[in-house]
Amino acid sequence: MGAGVQLAPVPHTDLSRIPDLVAGLRQAFDGGRTRPIAWRREQLARLRALLTENTDRLLAALQADLGKPELEARTTDIAVVVQELDHVAANLERWARPEPAATPLTQKPGSSRVLREPLGVVLVISPWNYPVQLLLSPLVGSIAAGNTTLLKPSELTETVSSALAELIPQYLDPTCTTLVEGGVEETQALLAERFDHIFYTGNGAVARIVMRAAAEHLTPVTLELGGKSPCIVAKDANLDVAARRIAWGKWLNAGQTCVAPDYVLVEEGVEEAFLEKLRATIREFYGDDPQKTDDLGRIVNGRHHARLLGLLEGQPIWHGGRSDAAQRYIEPTIVRNPRPESKLMQEEIFGPILPVLTVPSIDAAIDFVNKREKPLALYVFSSSESTSEAVLTRTSSGGACVNATIWQVANPHLPFGGVGPSGMGSYHGRGTFETLSHHKAVVSKTTWVDPKIAYPPYTSFKKAIVRKVM
Ligand code: NAD
Repeated sequence: MGAGVQLAPVPHTDLSRIPDLVAGLRQAFDGGRTRPIAWRREQLARLRALLTENTDRLLAALQADLGKPELEARTTDIAVVVQELDHVAANLERWARPEPAATPLTQKPGSSRVLREPLGVVLVISPWNYPVQLLLSPLVGSIAAGNTTLLKPSELTETVSSALAELIPQYLDPTCTTLVEGGVEETQALLAERFDHIFYTGNGAVARIVMRAAAEHLTPVTLELGGKSPCIVAKDANLDVAARRIAWGKWLNAGQTCVAPDYVLVEEGVEEAFLEKLRATIREFYGDDPQKTDDLGRIVNGRHHARLLGLLEGQPIWHGGRSDAAQRYIEPTIVRNPRPESKLMQEEIFGPILPVLTVPSIDAAIDFVNKREKPLALYVFSSSESTSEAVLTRTSSGGACVNATIWQVANPHLPFGGVGPSGMGSYHGRGTFETLSHHKAVVSKTTWVDPKIAYPPYTSFKKAIVRKVM
């Protein structure tokens, strides 16, 4: 690995080591190690090898922590990062090139360009629901942009965290990428340090802690948060397709997905048909007893399991509702027309419970959405383009799909991020590279000509010329 400070992995971080870890990353950055594109490419290729050579281990860890079905884990935690890596590999030189900009006549002769400059040391704090993807996808952009990176995975998925803590120093330059394991205390110790960017994914309450700490050092932040993402099903929707796509997006990872449909607003007249199709889809996907299938994940821990059962208390359960605390299992559950003031309709559900509410019209659905915080995602199902366009233009959300769920996240050509309380900033593909680069404006002038017009003394002749042209 060459010269530099060797940073060992931190199984459960000794808090006193944190300042040195950050200082080590800064020293490596200041030494210029991460700047050459060839170094970045090599690190990205190693990260790809980490994923492809250890897929089985990571799948097993995702199964242990979240009961993640193999196909879901392979696609949403591993393939999505490999796809991101390949996209970066195909484009990095182009993105990193100086970008020419126009030069106004008044500044000629001269030329202008925008340089992409690495920021320095980036802190990535990630949650437990997609613990591989949400830690490594920001890392791809951080390396691509030429930064050093400190990774802080979630303590809630500790099998995945400890696997990554072991693998990352085996594959990546340990002077430039390091991982700190631990929980609140370790994260807070990290937040006391100065970083050049903090990339946080998780809930809004912790995001406020992160932003407050970042303010102390004037460190910019990207906040990837959550919220209650609605689905709107119009009368003219293809109900079979809507039921299937909503069910898939909802019960993927047992509903523990930041962009999962949180609730459905279905237009009056088709609610019975839609609900029956949803129920039939659950049977088709997971069988009569979904506890027996391998294709449905589990709730991350006992605390979240109890929280979800609490949300169901006193609710009009229309389908499902069975649970098993020992297995952290909750059946795919549909609640019909819960009270909008109930906790189920106030908090982000983040589990396998789907409220379905009937609304008299699309206008009423739009009103319902607009009376609440801006969500991370919104999904509209309709056969009419004017209906889906009306929903898209009259509501605000981080991203959206028409006649689909989740796919907006998986396209590296689209920015992924929230708006308002669902997040700040965006990433994926070129977006991560741009977010974790400084855009430096540069003007270069020749010296063979140096018109005196702009310099004092400001004679009346100069003033007259300036008045004429400006
Ligand atoms: P979590 O509990 O794992 O917390 C996320 C990170 O914050 C962890 O690394 C944790 O150690 C740290 N943390 C927790 N409490 C802290 C504290 N008091 N001080 C400092 N650090 C602390 O995950 P979570 O927040 O429960 O994740 C679920 C939330 O994340 C949901 O709201 C979901 O919608 C959102 N989410 C958003 C995205 C996105 O890309 N927008 C993706 C996944 C999840």
